Amino acid sequence: MPNLTCVLARIDDKHDAPRFFENVAPRIKKTFTDASDGAINLDIVDRTDEAPTHRPNSPLAGRHFALDLHRELRFYAANPLDQPVETVVALYGGVYHHNDSPYGMMFDPGFIPDAGELFLNKPHLEGRPREGCAIFLGAIERDRKVDPDLLWDQFEQQTTFTTIHELGHVFNLPHKKPPINYMSQSDRRSVYNPNFHEFIPEHETRLSRGKSSKSVWPGGSKFGDSGFLDDHSDCNWNTKSKMIDDLRFEISISRDHARYFEPFELDMRLRVKRGSTKTYRISDIVDPGYDQFRIFIEEPTGERRLYKSPRHYCPHEKFLTIGPSREFRRDISIFGESGGYTFRRAGVHRIWAEIHLGRRGVLTSNKIGIEIELERSESRKDQDVRIALTRMASANVLYHRLDRHHGNGTKTLVSLLESYADIPTAGAIQYSVGRALLEPSVRIQEKRKQRGMACFEEALKNPNQLSVRQIEIAEKCLGDATN
Ligand SMILES: [Zn+2]
Repeated sequence: MPNLTCVLARIDDKHDAPRFFENVAPRIKKTFTDASDGAINLDIVDRTDEAPTHRPNSPLAGRHFALDLHRELRFYAANPLDQPVETVVALYGGVYHHNDSPYGMMFDPGFIPDAGELFLNKPHLEGRPREGCAIFLGAIERDRKVDPDLLWDQFEQQTTFTTIHELGHVFNLPHKKPPINYMSQSDRRSVYNPNFHEFIPEHETRLSRGKSSKSVWPGGSKFGDSGFLDDHSDCNWNTKSKMIDDLRFEISISRDHARYFEPFELDMRLRVKRGSTKTYRISDIVDPGYDQFRIFIEEPTGERRLYKSPRHYCPHEKFLTIGPSREFRRDISIFGESGGYTFRRAGVHRIWAEIHLGRRGVLTSNKIGIEIELERSESRKDQDVRIALTRMASANVLYHRLDRHHGNGTKTLVSLLESYADIPTAGAIQYSVGRALLEPSVRIQEKRKQRGMACFEEALKNPNQLSVRQIEIAEKCLGDATN
């Protein structure tokens, strides 16, 4: 029987639940062994009593950035890159920094630049598809009762359900409803009756394929990549609905041509059409991490594919209100996706997106294009720019706006701009360096704060390189500082 190690680890010290971890391990193991008819045999390794590796003293302890979660995951998984995955990981921590409502999320490989650096091809940096998940105890605790007198209180029931649900995604199981089962999306109001905590026969059939299937075993195909597994038959998508006729979904991009590794943002805007008096309340799922939101890319060859999110969130009951005086904006760093850079062919790529709002219909955006420039013979300057932007440390600053490499990312980018102040991405680079210097999870000294502000001032001199949202953030930050 093939074994798979399943590490349980804590990433902060905010939520200590030793009784839970004692109880949950045997339940996880038995659930997967039974559902897969022995094809998945998890060896649970409980490392939750070890000190969390995340910096516990930062002002944001208990709030976790995507980059940090990916790094923790790779630290614990460290799977070889050329053999079947041997270890999956469930991380337990407070809440997700960018959106505190999900109870859990599942990870595909993060954004990995491809500079051909020596340290690439190392498992602790690259990662594999579906190696693990995070369970957000802070979000669960907010919605579920903790009862010290009960042996199996609502908090423990929900945490167990979410752990098995997220591990279900690790084995490439999509959401499924009804009847209520482990792959149902959690209800914000209450935990499901434990009688319904089970996999349905369709899931059992898939799980029983175990190691023999790349689309089941962790590390194989990316989530939802296996065709028939990408099952949305129960979503009841209605493409002819008139219920959202007055809603408009617009996308734009901060560049119309770029080299594949240069930073650029996709701006997304939801508004009602001019003259409409309607107000809409829709799910906050405007992010490729939700399966109801998709970004399509048409390659220069005509081939169509979906943008690959490095993370998969389980939907929740958070809403956006859009009306005559209320629009919604969000941007994403579209130049990177799960695994690496998004646009790898020279030529014009077309991009559009869809939001699936259940029976209310499908909201489709306008189409835009970006031309990826051919890598001709590079001048010395082109070469310097490419090398500086594709280093792991600096690429993470551009994509995540965080420097987790002892300041090397921001240093590399600042010295690049000292040599070449006039490059066409100077404003976008200044913005990212500013955000990394001012990141909220470290105690910022006055000098660092001044440097961050100066970067925002420089970035705003090139507003055409920034997304609308980036301009708003930089202006607000500078405004707050002067008030
Ligand atoms: Zn889910």
